[in-house]
Amino acid sequence: MNTISDSLQVIQARILQAQRSAHRDDEILLLAVSKAQSIEKLREAYLAGQRAFGENYVQEAISKKEQLKDCAIEWHFIGPIQSNKTQLIAQHFDWVHSVDRLKIAIRLNEARPHSAAPLNVCIQINSSGESSKSGVDIGALAMLAKEINAMPNLKLRGLMAIPAPTKDLAKQRAQFKIVNDAFKTLRQQGFELDTLSIGMSDDYIAAIHEGATIVRIGSAIFGARVYKNGN
Ligand SMILES: *Cc1c(COP(=O)(O)O)cnc(C)c1O
Repeated sequence: MNTISDSLQVIQARILQAQRSAHRDDEILLLAVSKAQSIEKLREAYLAGQRAFGENYVQEAISKKEQLKDCAIEWHFIGPIQSNKTQLIAQHFDWVHSVDRLKIAIRLNEARPHSAAPLNVCIQINSSGESSKSGVDIGALAMLAKEINAMPNLKLRGLMAIPAPTKDLAKQRAQFKIVNDAFKTLRQQGFELDTLSIGMSDDYIAAIHEGATIVRIGSAIFGARVYKNGN
């Protein structure tokens, strides 16, 4: 069985290869998605040099953060946000990828401690047009971006999306292109954005070809997730 260190090396090499074939020379951050993974696995990834971790569940993340407080980790919240969790998220994370409505942005802005740097924020967009999917509709994106930009304790960095899973590389790219186009449009409108958070274990190569600057990878690093009661 591969160790976490081996998996990280393989993925970093694949990221670099995809980046070269896409003729890109900018930075791509590998975010290790560690939800439902053990502390031992997080520590192993940390010892292998991994510094950015993504979590979906607030209580689980806070408990891990406490156990790893000797480690210089950048914590990213990537899960759905309930409004009663905004205070804890604003206090404990460096990044939030999943802001999808104004009410949540307002609450995060209010709860961000003034002693901390502004909270880095991505707007999660619904690129599929299905109303069942989470994320803001592309038509409402510019308005939300404008509102977040005016909030002093948030720093709008870019967009996040989770397209419908498919094994078809062309379909993966087509879905990510919709997100990248929305990103480019916002930049043309004057928003200073530098982050496109797209791509997971099964589609990060396609995402890199469509401009991903953060890929969020869980199972390809840590193996299958083990859910306990309560998650
Ligand atoms: C779980 C999760 C991931 C990682 O998924 P894998 O398929 O295990 O790489 C990425 N992004 C979000 C938002 C997730 O919830």
